[in-house]
Amino acid sequence: MNAPRKTKKAASGRRPRKDRLIQTRVPEDLETTLKEEAERRRLTVSHLIRSVLEDSFQLVDDVVSDFDKVVTDSVGLARNVSRNARKLAQAGKAGTSARPNWDRSLDDIYGWNELVLHRAAKCKRCGTAIERGERAFVGLGDKPRRTRVWLCRGCMETL
Ligand SMILES: [Zn+2]
Repeated sequence: MNAPRKTKKAASGRRPRKDRLIQTRVPEDLETTLKEEAERRRLTVSHLIRSVLEDSFQLVDDVVSDFDKVVTDSVGLARNVSRNARKLAQAGKAGTSARPNWDRSLDDIYGWNELVLHRAAKCKRCGTAIERGERAFVGLGDKPRRTRVWLCRGCMETL
């Protein structure tokens, strides 16, 4: 398994780094979740797991400091792969099923711009009318939209 970390260990040069193959058994539903998540992110399952592992090792300092030990202990690493994959699956499930429709419909929005309205609008999330002169947020998206998307200040705080 390749782990291109930008830490002191990568520069220590004790031995050349090579990709290693690590296999682990996962339950069928986890496999399905991993495949779906990988597809969603346009990655291979292998890349997805690798990136999740890299993220988790980078985020958790004490795990990073144990990294060399873990790498030489393939059983331990396989266990970590499995555990992280399971965490990912849970996150993936929460991320797909718990998201309300209004949120999904905003997937192309990359940012919100606060404005004082000159024309009344309606909050995309809660449906509240936003009057002229009030502050609200307009969504800026990658795709041209037929209608603008507005969020009221209350909904913006819950994003
Ligand atoms: Zn609202």
